[in-house]
Amino acid sequence: MSQAFLEAVRPLLGPTALKTAPDALEAFAVDWRKRYVGKPLAVLLPETTEQVAAIVRLANEHRVALVPQGGNTGLSGGATPDASGSQVVLSLSRLTRIRHQDSDNKTLTVEAGVTLQQVQEAADAMGLLFPLSLGSEGSATIGGNLATNAGGTGVLRYGNARDLCLGVEVVTATGEIWNGLRGLRKDNTGYDLRDLFVGSEGTLGLITAAVVKLFPKPAAVMTALARVGGPADALRLLQLAQAQCDAALTGFEFMSSVSTGLVVEYFPDVARHGAQMIGGQDGKPGYPTVLLEISHPESQEAATTMLDRLMEKALEEGVVQDASVAQSVAQAKALWHLRETITLSAAEDGPHIKHDIALPISSLVTFIAAMDQEMQSAYPGIRLINFGHFGDGNLHYNVAPPPALAAGKTKTERHQIFKDFLQTHEDTIRKMVHDRVVAMNGSISAEHGLGQLRRDEAKRYKSAVEQNLMKTIKTALDPNGILNPGKVL
Ligand SMILES: Cc1cc2nc3c(=O)[nH]c(=O)nc-3n(C[C@H](O)[C@H](O)[C@H](O)COP(=O)(O)OP(=O)(O)OC[C@H]3O[C@@H](n4cnc5c(N)ncnc54)[C@H](O)[C@@H]3O)c2cc1C
Repeated sequence: MSQAFLEAVRPLLGPTALKTAPDALEAFAVDWRKRYVGKPLAVLLPETTEQVAAIVRLANEHRVALVPQGGNTGLSGGATPDASGSQVVLSLSRLTRIRHQDSDNKTLTVEAGVTLQQVQEAADAMGLLFPLSLGSEGSATIGGNLATNAGGTGVLRYGNARDLCLGVEVVTATGEIWNGLRGLRKDNTGYDLRDLFVGSEGTLGLITAAVVKLFPKPAAVMTALARVGGPADALRLLQLAQAQCDAALTGFEFMSSVSTGLVVEYFPDVARHGAQMIGGQDGKPGYPTVLLEISHPESQEAATTMLDRLMEKALEEGVVQDASVAQSVAQAKALWHLRETITLSAAEDGPHIKHDIALPISSLVTFIAAMDQEMQSAYPGIRLINFGHFGDGNLHYNVAPPPALAAGKTKTERHQIFKDFLQTHEDTIRKMVHDRVVAMNGSISAEHGLGQLRRDEAKRYKSAVEQNLMKTIKTALDPNGILNPGKVL
């Protein structure tokens, strides 16, 4: 059946768009964190929506499962095929046209495979701003961003990918094309199908193009790195910043000393830029910090005054112990790079237990204090790599094995030791964290999605009613179970 499918698909695509050679499949078979390794039957790289639709129709005919993939930067294993050798990766990365620019409507219509960075650059060339921003933006695609409802650093002011999308074009799970590319800010004409596909992680339909919302560019953007006593101070600083800056506050990231300590250890050149605030160098203690961004619509002067006033007040009230304001775009970029390098540093350190939790902002401090205590008493020496989009109530509360376990070992040995630790303790630790999150009315996936990593966890916490509604939608839209089986549900 599978070979017959490939033979049927072959004439639809160009010679380089159907890959079956093992070495050509490798990059598509493993996720970014190298946690999941699949065995695809083939990889298909169509270039048009019509080709995608034809592939899906044939997949239904031959009952072949398709695993959609964009930039393959997802952190939940959603784009990785299983190990059966029967699933086909359908990469949307060659749908790369920018179809339409509308400056007056402040929208861009782009195909799914355009990278997030290219969307930002296209908006910039129009004199506008596309504010979605992620550490992976050079490779992540807009299709993947929408399929995962990506968050990132600008959610506080601009919302997540869902809020930035006005319309989508979708190839349905049965191979029809739905053109929902409407650039409308108001449209109450029945069920919101767009929102059904956004965040569905490739299980309900294939997003082939989207209309995204652009904003006026701020006149000035200022970035500061502030040393705080801990999460309680971070929360007070957030309240102060929101009171004083209101909508001009566009970024608010918390970084624990353990998380920046990883950057100091593995990427010292990157850490150098925030050295004075984060500490942790030459055996000295590290400090928790907040990375804060102000975007002002008027002028550089107005932005500087706003940020200076905020920092003065925060210092005066003892909320902040020290602060450094970036004096140039290059300095601001270096501070953001520090923040974004935490994920890379963690990958270098070895396998960690990742959490992507959301809580009401008012519960963050209590959660962290109680969770830290519970973890440290259950697993003495464990490292809590707590950082994230604090201003949205989103923490990456990651847990790493005690470093003593791998003292004096090579990198390969360390990774193996940490892998073994995860095998023994991951389920228990994950349950400890998620039980507390759910008890505090939080979410076990703020922005990375369920994929295969959190699929079973979601089953544990979602009510039967919610699970049944989700299954009903899946069965109605994908009756043959062709799209991304084994993910989300
Ligand atoms: C260094 C780093 C930093 C990151 N920072 C953030 C962050 O701050 N916030 C955040 O939210 N995420 C972050 N991520 C995670 C990741 O970049 C996002 O989830 C991103 O949106 C995935 O896009 P992608 O194109 O790589 O999708 P992929 O990884 O290829 O796919 C992700 C999911 O979407 C599905 N999919 C992909 N394209 C389509 C399509 N066109 N139609 C239907 N389904 C599709 C796949 O089947 C899969 O389920 C980060 C990742 C890295 C590596």
